[in-house]
Amino acid sequence: MAEFNRRMALFLDIDGTLIDLAPKPDLVVVPDFLPPLLHDLATELGGALALVSGRALTEIDRLIPGLDSVAGSHGGEWRLQGVTKAAIAAIPELDALAAGAETLPGILVERKPMGVAMHYRDNPQLAGQVRALARRIVESADQALRLIDGKSVVEVVPAGTDKGGAITRFMDAPAFAGRFPIYVGDDVTDECGFRAVNRLDGLSIRVGGTKGSAATRGLSSPRAVRRWLKTLHQQAIGGNHVQS
Ligand SMILES: [Mg+2]
Repeated sequence: MAEFNRRMALFLDIDGTLIDLAPKPDLVVVPDFLPPLLHDLATELGGALALVSGRALTEIDRLIPGLDSVAGSHGGEWRLQGVTKAAIAAIPELDALAAGAETLPGILVERKPMGVAMHYRDNPQLAGQVRALARRIVESADQALRLIDGKSVVEVVPAGTDKGGAITRFMDAPAFAGRFPIYVGDDVTDECGFRAVNRLDGLSIRVGGTKGSAATRGLSSPRAVRRWLKTLHQQAIGGNHVQS
């Protein structure tokens, strides 16, 4: 095992980072080699690998089953070395938002255990309407909710949880503590993750380049991320040092 791997903690967003974006979230394709590669890397890193996604934990487990450490719902729920926890209880205003969004034709509404995502990829002209509805609900919820403007998606989630908080929490756990954190993400929701690893003197990598981002490094595509992970794995089993 490479010495560097013993000191590294790897945090990975999923959509747009490990796998290519699709017109709808349930249409994404996970390459067959990816789940076993992630399991191998987690083992090589002594358990210091976590997926950090906006998707619900159950959805993450459907795509990439069985990893010990996973943060879902933008840090609102997580499994840390096999133990599942949630940060907050359900917020009733989210039901009103989901109901309102269902009435907008051409919007794909994704109800999560701790949030509502409204996808307008097929109808970009509806972005303003979707944002206005989300803002109304956020304002009515007395600071319990916040709005996230993602790639062709507006999402409303509980305030006070984000991917940066998830990474910081994981870094306090024994498998991760004291290691060099690396976070790879692609979207606005990943910026707090980039800032979290920057604060810990780690490495922040954004898919699509670093322009306008807190990330300090860029990779061109999810394919490039997967290639990089394969290299880490090969160097780990080959016993060579990994160049960051
Ligand atoms: Mg993403």
